[in-house]
Amino acid sequence: MDKQVSFLDQLFDQGILHDSGVDGLYARSDLFEEVITRFEALAKSFGKDETSEAMVFPPGMPIKDFETSGYMKNFPHLAGTVHAFCGNDHDHAGLLQCLEVGEDWSENQKPTDVALTPAACYPLYPILARRGALPAEGAYVALQSYCFRHEPSRDPARMQMFRQREFVRAGSADQAIAFRETWKQRGQDIMKLLELPCTVDVANDPFFGRAGKMMGSSQREQELKFELLVPVNSAANPTACMSFNYHMDNFGKAWDIRQQDGSHAHTACVGFGLERIALALFRHHGMDVESWPAGVRKALWG
Ligand code: AMP
Ligand code: ZN
Repeated sequence: MDKQVSFLDQLFDQGILHDSGVDGLYARSDLFEEVITRFEALAKSFGKDETSEAMVFPPGMPIKDFETSGYMKNFPHLAGTVHAFCGNDHDHAGLLQCLEVGEDWSENQKPTDVALTPAACYPLYPILARRGALPAEGAYVALQSYCFRHEPSRDPARMQMFRQREFVRAGSADQAIAFRETWKQRGQDIMKLLELPCTVDVANDPFFGRAGKMMGSSQREQELKFELLVPVNSAANPTACMSFNYHMDNFGKAWDIRQQDGSHAHTACVGFGLERIALALFRHHGMDVESWPAGVRKALWG
């Protein structure tokens, strides 16, 4: 049995997560949720003087905005869309018959206008765009969303449904870049408080296919994405628990978000993988939160 499986089994055995039968889809215990809530409070305290507003999104976003994001161009393999039964009585009888005999029952499942949100900041951009030009100071939003990525795995740190807490900056290139640099440092300061070993490194998103390889290299060359890595399952392959992203004016152009001078806004975001950070804490400090180091308990529980 490899180490990943044993960590997942340990989490199940301790009742921290509960198995659903589908890899990457787990019920969370109260304790796991409490650690996440405490972590979020800590993270929010770092950005509190700058944040102009906060939002929490549902796990689905408008399919139109999902299309605009370019997700199907870049990451079709990770995407999930919501379908619903759109048939008549006759079709319904057929569906029940298929279910009865264990056959494919999805013939009359048709696309709805909802996609599962793949990244917590995507639903924000169209909201900003609808408001008209950004104020001179830009926008600085704290947000949280459940996200879906179709990447089933027995690695407990690679879930199909998980939450990202993000801070998003929209404004000039200078504002976006300065934000990203500030949070790169803050991410490490937070991990120090949590007594978790970490490194920060340049990274790329898992773009699909052959063309995707080139996009990944170009993203790296331009240093558009950094990740903060913590050993969660293996020391050899640390897990990205935070990412620090500069999107240039790509999202500004895609959703038509404008600055005061009419030019497209530049955006940046910092994303905290909430489940991954909670798992890192359990991995490094043990399954019993009462016996976590005093400094860590103080950072989280005050
Ligand atoms: P990304 O948008 O890929 O940079 O993701 C932002 C953060 O979300 C990452 O740094 C991870 O901490 C977290 N994350 C990404 N994918 C997953 C996943 N499959 N399961 C759990 N957390 C994830
Ligand atoms: Zn983001």
